[in-house]
Amino acid sequence: AQAESQNVATVKYKTGMQSHGRRLLAMEKEIRDGFENNEFVLYFQPQLNLLNNRIEGFEALVRWQHPARGLLQPASFLPDIESLNLLSDLDSYVLDLACQTVARLQKEYHRRVTIAINITAVEFQDPQLIENIQALLFKYQITPRCLDLEITENVVMTEIATAMDTIVILQNMGIKVSIDDFGTGYSSLAYLRKLPIDKIKIDRSFIEEVASNDSDLTIVKSMVELSHGLGKRVLAEGVETEEQLRVLRNIGCDAVQGYYISKPIPEAALKKYFTR
Ligand code: C2E
Ligand code: MG
Ligand code: MG
Ligand code: MG
Repeated sequence: AQAESQNVATVKYKTGMQSHGRRLLAMEKEIRDGFENNEFVLYFQPQLNLLNNRIEGFEALVRWQHPARGLLQPASFLPDIESLNLLSDLDSYVLDLACQTVARLQKEYHRRVTIAINITAVEFQDPQLIENIQALLFKYQITPRCLDLEITENVVMTEIATAMDTIVILQNMGIKVSIDDFGTGYSSLAYLRKLPIDKIKIDRSFIEEVASNDSDLTIVKSMVELSHGLGKRVLAEGVETEEQLRVLRNIGCDAVQGYYISKPIPEAALKKYFTR
């Protein structure tokens, strides 16, 4: 009887594997078609500079305008894209789209707008990245100062030497580099000091209770001091309330991003930021 039940378990397991494989295979086709048909689009979330009260840039956040399932958030498709090793394709697609947007905004509103782009580990460690970006700058005739690449601490720390070289080259080209989700990964402060990055983005999880929890306030204060001590700018992510904004202003945070300022919005809705 025991052998029998083991068999049943094995069979179930195998069927599970097969349907998982089948699902991924179907998904791969959907995703590739999605790239082909330009179903992936960018939404933009403004970043507010607290020193001059101006919008200093916009973070590009990918969405999938799926023909059958509607507008999908990254959490629902990034894991599949990662399993299928298509993250690098997504990043190239997003980079192109972001540069295209910079060019379009400049043409339409005569403004140089900085767009922040999320770059994953695979893409950041790709030796082709620099060349790809140079080609895009040329293709769309945009200035490198309009690009801000967001990478996480883990991207930097797993391949420190390569990451350091890439960041130095990007900086020399005039492209900004920011550390995203700061505080959630592992980073060595010694390396952080040496990295020629522009900005540290404090993860939303620390901001959530910054106005109500003393330990969180202490942590965020230290992160602001640390960033400034290292000569970097610091932005708080996920600001949802007036109280959080007030606290962040008081402790000298340079910039904020979050629903309180604006949710991510489609390109057409950016107009209001330029026609005032
Ligand atoms: P992230 O880069 O840390 O982006 C911030 C996320 O927080 C975004 O979620 C944004 O919509 C959300 N957010 C912003 N303000 C608030 C707020 O006040 N409250 C709350 N609760 N959330 C807020 P989103 O767009 O779902 O993206 C999630 C993650 O997916 C991003 O985290 C980023 O790691 C990744 N991602 C998004 N777009 C891209 C992309 O184009 N390429 C790559 N490689 N990754 C992307
Ligand atoms: Mg980001
Ligand atoms: Mg983040
Ligand atoms: Mg993130």
